Amino acid sequence: MMKLLLSLVFLLQTVWSFQFPFAIPNLFSSPSYQHAHYSKLDPDDQPIDLLQYKDDVVIRVSYASSPPLKEFLANPKEVQFNKWGKNSNQHTIDIQIEEEELVKLIEKFPSLEYHTIIEDLPQHIYETFPVSEQQVITQDEDFHVQSELFFKEYRDLATINSWLNLLQATYPEVVKIEEIGDTFEHRKLNVVHFSVPNDDIEHHNKKTIVITGGVHAREWISVSSTLYMIYQLVKLYGTWPNSKILTQLNFLFIPVTNPDGYEYTWTTDRLWRKNRQETPIPRCFGIDIDHSYGYHWTKSSDWACGEEYSGEFPFEAFESRLWDEYLNNTNKDHTIYGYIDLHSYSQEILYPYAYSCEQQPRDEENLIELAWGIAKSIRMKSGSNYNVLPACIDKDSDLLPDLGAGSALDYMYHNRAFWAYQFKLRDTGGHGFLLPAKYIEPVGDEIVSAILYFCKFILSDDR
Ligand SMILES: [Zn+2]
Repeated sequence: MMKLLLSLVFLLQTVWSFQFPFAIPNLFSSPSYQHAHYSKLDPDDQPIDLLQYKDDVVIRVSYASSPPLKEFLANPKEVQFNKWGKNSNQHTIDIQIEEEELVKLIEKFPSLEYHTIIEDLPQHIYETFPVSEQQVITQDEDFHVQSELFFKEYRDLATINSWLNLLQATYPEVVKIEEIGDTFEHRKLNVVHFSVPNDDIEHHNKKTIVITGGVHAREWISVSSTLYMIYQLVKLYGTWPNSKILTQLNFLFIPVTNPDGYEYTWTTDRLWRKNRQETPIPRCFGIDIDHSYGYHWTKSSDWACGEEYSGEFPFEAFESRLWDEYLNNTNKDHTIYGYIDLHSYSQEILYPYAYSCEQQPRDEENLIELAWGIAKSIRMKSGSNYNVLPACIDKDSDLLPDLGAGSALDYMYHNRAFWAYQFKLRDTGGHGFLLPAKYIEPVGDEIVSAILYFCKFILSDDR
């Protein structure tokens, strides 16, 4: 059924592409249906096999009063679980664990302090997929009407690519999609280059801002927020084309930095994190792209089947290598002033360095002040609190040196961008990676306001 709908979408896209920008079909479902309980579904109607999660819960464990527990959680043996997020201030970690494994953990640490965050995990997962039975397709609606619907649900890779193609076809003078190479599973890695023509300033003299999302496959809100930022820039272009943000800056976006992993979360495992390339261990796939960059790369202690596996050498991940090659070869003309890498979850603004707390970033005071300014702009927009901290603390790089190694943040900050951050978006754990779709727009709005604040700072920075 899904395949049929997708081919219909593409067919319509082809047919209507001759009429841009006058009439565009409405490709996206409207979210007027509630999710039933997954157990009532025919297995064929499940977006992915949800029963694979039926014995799992997500719990928040406090290790504040137990150093041995902290050590064990960092390097577990005999008990299996997946790490979700952690809060270094509160000394807690969120883990996804099978009930049987939880019993083992409690046997090992009888005074274990924890509470359950997500009980019915399969249902939580199911509710992040679009309610797509009703595919509304009407004519005579413009790109903006489409986009209002587009952001009501999370979107799969094919739909995102259709939407981006539509955007490029509607605004060819400002939006260019650059295919920078193929992933392990032969998907295109796309950079969206947004630049408003300006006769008064040479293209290469504009300051470039880079925003990336979807490095970790399951962090869907980072993908939707990157797309939302692009959409808001296009809207700004429609209403205020002479604004400085548009005339003085270039933007490079990678909305889906991990296309193979992202697709895998839509077809097989919603909670997948890494990319999908081969490793030395047969049947264990995937490198953590954010441990693959060639700045202070160290081989992770995690084995190839683990979620933090770094690969055997720097830039082994296709995606980090393609991005590095693109910057070294194709994109030499751009001077990158700002870099923001979007992740989830925990509501944090992280500044360099990730690999070590010993290495001081340049302009540290300004870097921190700017981060607090960004956090404030978010709070004023939506009331959400984002914490500011060095990435090394978030990653516990002092305790486990390989954890913060080879990150995109450090690589970009050291080699490319004057100012660089990693944002971890909502929430603080109630939904974790499974933030419901109704938050796409509120989170998009607060992140747009954060990025615009960042851009204004960069415009005023006269280096
Ligand atoms: Zn991430």
